[in-house]
Amino acid sequence: MSLTSLAENVQKHYDVIIIGSGPAGYTAGVYTSRAKLSVLIISGTLPGGQLMTTSEVENYPGFPSGIFGPELMMNMRQQSERFGAVIIDDEVIKVDFKQRPFKITTHSETYDSDAVIICTGASPRKLGIPAEQQFGGRGVSYCATCDGPFFKGEDIVVVGGGDTAVEEATFLTKFGKSVKIVHRRDSLRASAIMQEKAKENPKIEFVWNNIVTDIKGDKKISTVSLKNLKTGKETEVKTGGLFVAIGHEPNTSIFKDQVELDDKGYMILKEYTKTSVDGIFAAGDVHDHRYRQAVTAAGFGCMAAIDVERWLSERKHSSDNNKRK
Ligand code: NAP
Repeated sequence: MSLTSLAENVQKHYDVIIIGSGPAGYTAGVYTSRAKLSVLIISGTLPGGQLMTTSEVENYPGFPSGIFGPELMMNMRQQSERFGAVIIDDEVIKVDFKQRPFKITTHSETYDSDAVIICTGASPRKLGIPAEQQFGGRGVSYCATCDGPFFKGEDIVVVGGGDTAVEEATFLTKFGKSVKIVHRRDSLRASAIMQEKAKENPKIEFVWNNIVTDIKGDKKISTVSLKNLKTGKETEVKTGGLFVAIGHEPNTSIFKDQVELDDKGYMILKEYTKTSVDGIFAAGDVHDHRYRQAVTAAGFGCMAAIDVERWLSERKHSSDNNKRK
């Protein structure tokens, strides 16, 4: 199957439709298609998900020398296609889970299915400054667990004042020479115990009431510009790495009013990987705001696929029994 499958060439009904193509979506694709279900994966705007914008991945098991994010995701894509999953590079714009079969509409077509696995992930909140994208993968990171070891001996800047920022800053002191936490206010949102730990760490310095206004460098980041929101004073800080830890946004806007979401917009799982709607399952960062790792997302994708397979066969079994009665 070519990278961009043409919508006209594919059937319109599937046993299962997987929405999203990060590690959760592709793993769900491998498991459901190997179970001989008919499977459609609708990849979304960034086929492969967050790892497509990452350079080297060192913590995905099975690759002792590491693997580049895009290569890992292409491998996963090919693995799910190998067992018959059909992949459409299109974006879902509307779903209707109130009728059976479920209806899923993309920019070009409406498909239907007996079961759905939602794997749309979450996106790290961005600073929203123009240079941020330019230095993505060249010093700007949104995941210390993923990228920390690449910043050995560097002066590092972390932005944010929540648990993630403080936890990541503490983790980054294992690698960096120094870590500055730049926060827009003068008090942290992070839990008291994490604050205490960070404040006791001699490598961590707090820069209060400041925001990052620019990122400069050549091939790699070299400085960030800060602005003090109280005094208006602007400063330049030398850095080899900027970690943005200002929260995540789950990609669930199209599921509002269809599936139960928590107050931050994450999918609520009712039992195993089942959502509030019978037949709709969720896997990966779209419900998991705790671990957010490629390997945990892949694990959730496998779990959802097994749950779907069992759910479909139980449903078939009870409908066969009803016909016999
Ligand atoms: P968060 O709690 O929403 O904190 C986001 C931080 O970023 C806040 O300090 C916020 O500033 C700041 N911020 C937001 N937008 C910004 C912007 N545009 N520019 C500059 N700063 C900005 O997010 P999180 O830290 O990722 O945590 C998410 C959830 O996971 C929380 O419930 C947290 O407790 C939990 N968590 C728990 C652990 C743990 O228990 N080990 C670890 C990580 C996360 P303000 O404070 O001014 O709003």
